[in-house]
Amino acid sequence: MSELRLMAVHAHPDDESSKGAATMAKYADEGARVMVVSLTGGERGDILNPAMDLPEVHGRIHEIRRDEMAKAAEILGVEHHWLGFIDSGLPEGDPLPPLPDGCFAVVPIEQPVEALVKVIREFKPHVMTTYDETGGYPHPDHIRCHQVSVAAYEAAGDYRLYPEAGEPWNVAKLYYNHGFLRQRMQVLQDEFARHGQEGPFAKWLENWDPNDDLLSKRVTTRIECAKYFDQRDRALLAHATQIDPNSFFFTTPMEWQQRLWPTEEYEIARSRVPLTLPEDDLFTGIEP
Ligand SMILES: [Zn+2]
Repeated sequence: MSELRLMAVHAHPDDESSKGAATMAKYADEGARVMVVSLTGGERGDILNPAMDLPEVHGRIHEIRRDEMAKAAEILGVEHHWLGFIDSGLPEGDPLPPLPDGCFAVVPIEQPVEALVKVIREFKPHVMTTYDETGGYPHPDHIRCHQVSVAAYEAAGDYRLYPEAGEPWNVAKLYYNHGFLRQRMQVLQDEFARHGQEGPFAKWLENWDPNDDLLSKRVTTRIECAKYFDQRDRALLAHATQIDPNSFFFTTPMEWQQRLWPTEEYEIARSRVPLTLPEDDLFTGIEP
């Protein structure tokens, strides 16, 4: 019974492969049980890869994304669970249009919280990951993912809440993903410059305030996982409708990433065990 369990909660299929994927692959490889929970089916995702913008893909996106997700989970070596809510889509326009009826971001929050509490009480994770209060990206489903995860972390251990959802389970630690860091982008961009190349990040860096320093202000925990970056890339590419293989995600040589930024970053958000910060392991302080 020495098994450790990690649960990563994400808004859409593909989010798990762009946020903390190498960390999950590492823990799975080291013998932990790792489960990804996708809150929605990604039904309103656009086709972002021109090579997949095909007549046979349109109208079947829900089904195709299920297959893509299964492939990504297999590549990462993780278990996967669909919570079953409907993607809210990213509203665009001025003024913004209302969110579609019945989508994840508008259903009463108790519904997804209860559904997630049930999965937590069954899987019994020691550690959960989710997004911070900004969602990490201003998509209504990402912000809702934060709210639902925090509420479910609190509720899962409380026998008075959702008694129909199983026996209470206290998750020991809750983390926020913080992989999208200005400093990482700068370090990689500088390496392109050193090699006399333009680098894909100039525009991003120009529009990103250098004082916006999540690394020193919020990151508490850095996981060394360079060995698993190749799995991370392959999992992301498995979401073929969602990612263009020619995009800037894949232009930085693997060796540079592994040498210059071999970690993925997290912020401890809640803990029921004593902490010593900074940490280099999500399970520090936990005895299975
Ligand atoms: Zn998403």
